[in-house]
Amino acid sequence: MNIYPWQNELWKQLQGLTGRYPHALLFHGQEGIGKTVFARFLAKSLLCEARIADGHACGLCSSCLWVSQGSHPDFRMVRSESIDAAEGLEREESGDADDEGGAVETGPKKSKTPSKEIKIEQVRALASFLNLKTHRGGLRVVLIYPAHAMNTYTANALLKMLEEPPRDTVFLLVTDALERLLPTIRSRCRKFAMATPETAVALAWLQSRNVGHAERLLAEQGGAPLAALHAAVEGADLDAARERFLRLLADPDRLNPVQAAETVAKIDLPLVVGWLQRWVFDCLGHRLAGRIRYYPSHSARIAVLSAALQVPEFFNFVKLLSAERRVAEHPLNARLFVESLLMAYVDALEPARD
Ligand SMILES: [Zn+2]
Repeated sequence: MNIYPWQNELWKQLQGLTGRYPHALLFHGQEGIGKTVFARFLAKSLLCEARIADGHACGLCSSCLWVSQGSHPDFRMVRSESIDAAEGLEREESGDADDEGGAVETGPKKSKTPSKEIKIEQVRALASFLNLKTHRGGLRVVLIYPAHAMNTYTANALLKMLEEPPRDTVFLLVTDALERLLPTIRSRCRKFAMATPETAVALAWLQSRNVGHAERLLAEQGGAPLAALHAAVEGADLDAARERFLRLLADPDRLNPVQAAETVAKIDLPLVVGWLQRWVFDCLGHRLAGRIRYYPSHSARIAVLSAALQVPEFFNFVKLLSAERRVAEHPLNARLFVESLLMAYVDALEPARD
């Protein structure tokens, strides 16, 4: 892990603070520009026992290794459950156990729907951490993000700690909604505005990561390069999922509705129904008018299916699908819902029997 190219200036500025380091730093700026990565990198550097040039963490000392493993005794990360869940998922998906910047966490109990708030008990749990002597005799670092995820009570609990900061402690707060922080918290922190990078810099970075349509994505995300990268990855994932689903539809004889529903279980239901609907329109459109509007790349299979389908039955299915699409926003059970649609699809394509 490293900071992003557009953060070098701020990094240099922080290195100039040596000796008169603020006990609380608040990083704020637009969402999707890498503020948290920067703060984690800074935490690692503050804890490193053998910093190298430019104040970067060495990556080799015990402290750096502990931070990487998420087990540094003088580092705490306080974040909302929803962020925790999202980052955990990213780590699992990338198969990367080393999230570079891990800390022992003061996590809340896991609930069904991850909370978007930092809970007061997470902040209260810091008290005992702050009262102990540091394990390594160096600094102690607390990283809180997103800092605006604290309600008034939680923020006030933190404020007490900021007002009487323990020795050798640095608080790092990160937010993309500065105005949602209590003024008293803001005034206790040294604020650092993190600018959205210049378009050319952001584009160069996206292109170095092989992001297609970088210009469009960047514009859509208000110039935030990480948000643009995220959108590109999501878009690619969805494209792949849709192709898998269409290939299943292309072979109704072997289509297993239960398994097929499983493959799209994580995708927004109206999207899935939309894919099915367009596929069915293409089959019917080809049969009635020789036209394929949505999925021309599957024209060969669509032609075969459309030649065999029974028009009246298939029309009924199209009607059913339009009616069900309205329900798709709020189904009781998304998986069963897709299963039943796919069963109806298979039935509609079944050759008429005596
Ligand atoms: Zn180190």
